[in-house]
Amino acid sequence: MSIRENLINVEEKITKACERAGRDRSEVTLIAVSKTKPVSDLEEAMRCGITIFGENKVQEIRDKSEAIKEPVSFHMIGHLQTNKVKYLPGKVVMIHSVDKISLAEEIEKQFAKTDSVIDVLCEVNMAGEDTKFGLAPDEVFSFVREIAKLSHLRVRGLMTIAPFTEDPESNRQYFRALREMKDKLALENIPGTKIDTLSMGMTGDYEVAIEEGATFVRVGTGIFGAR
Ligand SMILES: *Cc1c(COP(=O)(O)O)cnc(C)c1O
Repeated sequence: MSIRENLINVEEKITKACERAGRDRSEVTLIAVSKTKPVSDLEEAMRCGITIFGENKVQEIRDKSEAIKEPVSFHMIGHLQTNKVKYLPGKVVMIHSVDKISLAEEIEKQFAKTDSVIDVLCEVNMAGEDTKFGLAPDEVFSFVREIAKLSHLRVRGLMTIAPFTEDPESNRQYFRALREMKDKLALENIPGTKIDTLSMGMTGDYEVAIEEGATFVRVGTGIFGAR
């Protein structure tokens, strides 16, 4: 299947999941996860209307944003090492993977240098998997309160990478719990936050994630094929 055909297919599934959940299609934004894929693949996706790409390596974001002249935006969705943060100002519009105070402080420092404010999400390890990064669910509130004090970060919500599974229904519990956490966080009205974003759902489970309230879905394989 071509990227174009894949995108038509993904779009149809997003639309149907929105319908099932009684949500408006405009509430869900598709992030095309282009990690490891060549610029020509991103350009093909752009011809099909994609403007937002997700990447997990700082170097790839630098290279691709250099190569692509059209106005597109990149989201940093992968684990971020503190020593790489300095390359991100001006290159990304959101960081989805903030899970350590030291990382948040480095983001603060680097974005202060360019006098810009970066939208961030806190990554939560909902299933408690040893192999994954992210905060434990019970750490989230105190973590958000702490990093909300940093004036060059704006906390927009939460992100999770659910367990890899053949059965997307088994991840519904995690998506639902993350949504509830996000709603509670929003009610706290913590200064320095604007909690309206829930980044959850990948190729294997984005329809369930949309049913449970995702506002960003991050789809790679389903658009660009196997990596
Ligand atoms: C690779 C990746 C995705 C996309 O995964 P697919 O299963 O290919 O859709 C989404 N989110 C993150 C954080 C990733 O690293």
